[in-house]
Formats: sequence, C-alpha cells, structure tokens
Amino acid sequence: VVEIHNATKSYGDRRVLRGIDLTVAAGTVTVILGPSGSGKSTLLRAINHLEKLDEGYVSVGGELIGVRVKGDRLKELPERQILAQRSRIGFVFQNFNLFPHLTALENVVEAPLSAGVPAKDARERGRAQLAAVGLAGKEADYPVQLSGGQQQRVAIARALALDPELILFDEPTSALDPELVGEVLQVIRTLAGSGRTLIVVTHEIGFAREVADRVVFVDEGVIVEEGTADQLINHPAHPRTQDFLSRVL
Ligand code: ATP
Ligand code: MG
Repeated sequence: VVEIHNATKSYGDRRVLRGIDLTVAAGTVTVILGPSGSGKSTLLRAINHLEKLDEGYVSVGGELIGVRVKGDRLKELPERQILAQRSRIGFVFQNFNLFPHLTALENVVEAPLSAGVPAKDARERGRAQLAAVGLAGKEADYPVQLSGGQQQRVAIARALALDPELILFDEPTSALDPELVGEVLQVIRTLAGSGRTLIVVTHEIGFAREVADRVVFVDEGVIVEEGTADQLINHPAHPRTQDFLSRVL
C-alpha cells in the first residue's frame, strides 16, 4: 500500500503540490490524469524521493520513503538508504532513459548486478524479462537500434528487474509515435493483473477506463476528484474534471 500524506511542494513561489492525500491499495492500478503543469510528475517523483517534499510524506508498505522521524520532525535519510529504497520501486519515464552505451540486456541487468545478484542469474532473468515484453532476440541491440516502443519495453523490463511491488509510470507512451502506443500499453496491461501496484500518469483515457481500479484527477496541485474509472471518466462530478475530459476525449 502506498500512502501519500499532505504532499506539499513549491518551486520558488510557485506552489506545485498543495497538500495531496492519496492512498493506493496494494495490487491495484491507479491512473493519474490532469492538465500539463498540474503537478503529476512532481507527485510521482515524490513517491520514490526523486523530488523532496517541503511538507508531508510518502510511505510504501508502511515504510517512510527518503526520510525518518526525528523527534517531531522528518529528517532526510542517507543517500545510500534512499537508493536502496528507490531500487525497490520501479520507475518508467516518458523518454525511456535507457543507458545509450549499454545493450538491451545490459540495461535490464544493470540494477540487479549493482545489487549483488550473481551475473549468471541476472542475465538469465534479464533474458526472461525481455522475452516477457516481446523482445526475445533483441538482447544485444543498443537503444539506437530499437524503435521507441521497443525502447520503452526495455525500460519496463528494466523496471521489473528487481521484482518491485510498486511501479510508477510517467506518461510512458506520450513520446511514442501513435502506432507504437498499443504495444507498450499491452505490456502495462499484462502487469496490471500480476499483483503488483501500478501508478500510471497518462493521457490514454481508453486505457484508464479499461485497466484502472482508481482514477485520480489532479489540477493545480490538488486532487480535484477521484473514483473508479467509471465514476471519474464516464460520470465526472466536478466541472474541472468535466472540462478536462471534454478536451482530451
Ligand atoms: P506535464 O503533463 O506537462 O508533464 P505535470 O502535471 O507532470 O505536467 P509537473 O512536471 O509536475 O507537471 O510540473 C508542475 C509545475 O512545476 C510546472 O509549472 C513546472 O513548470 C514546475 N516545475 C517542475 N519541475 C520544476 C523544477 N525542477 N524547477 C522549477 N519548476 C518546476
Ligand atoms: Mg509530467
């Protein structure tokens, strides 16, 4: 379970997150919708402490992320512990963020090798993970040799390499040519039934309707409305949600 409590963040005098509370049940898929600049990426990045909150905290599986309680305050954890926590949370970026000088398989096994998994096991698992996203035979290809959809599937295999219970996706298909979106959504769809917890920022409303257990609409750093996919997408209650959906649907 993921708990976000009073997540608050400003850049200079721009308030990007204004006290967000959100609970995500284990094994569910939550889709976050919202206009550009509403704070979706900042919120997602706060979950694995890529962004530091000014106020509030995030816990995953009951463990505070990036901070510990000291007296009546929260204190930043040492970098090494933050990295260890982060390695247990998968993150898939809009622009894939693969290592360009590493092959597909090397990208996937990089984190397990750093975590001390024996090379033979890591490579065996890495091959299986690439096969699971439809990339058997592409192990030795470098990112430049792969299409955007293939690169993003490598990135998903990499995010799965340490078998995280939680995976965060930040607009995983918005950098792709339209004809490549489907293959990436299909891989995410198969993950949805796997018992893992997924939080997906996306503008793919059809995907949200089909796969999301919960949909959250964020605007100007607050959660305007949340509910089931049917409630939020088919019967939005708030005028701002209605207006947003009328523009993206
Ligand atoms: P998009 O749909 O375009 O990805 P978003 O909802 O993900 O938007 P964020 O990336 O979270 O929005 O950004 C929210 C606001 O914070 C934006 O106004 C953005 O310009 C600002 N912002 C984000 N990161 C920084 C930063 N590192 N420094 C200053 N301002 C930032
Ligand atoms: Mg964003």
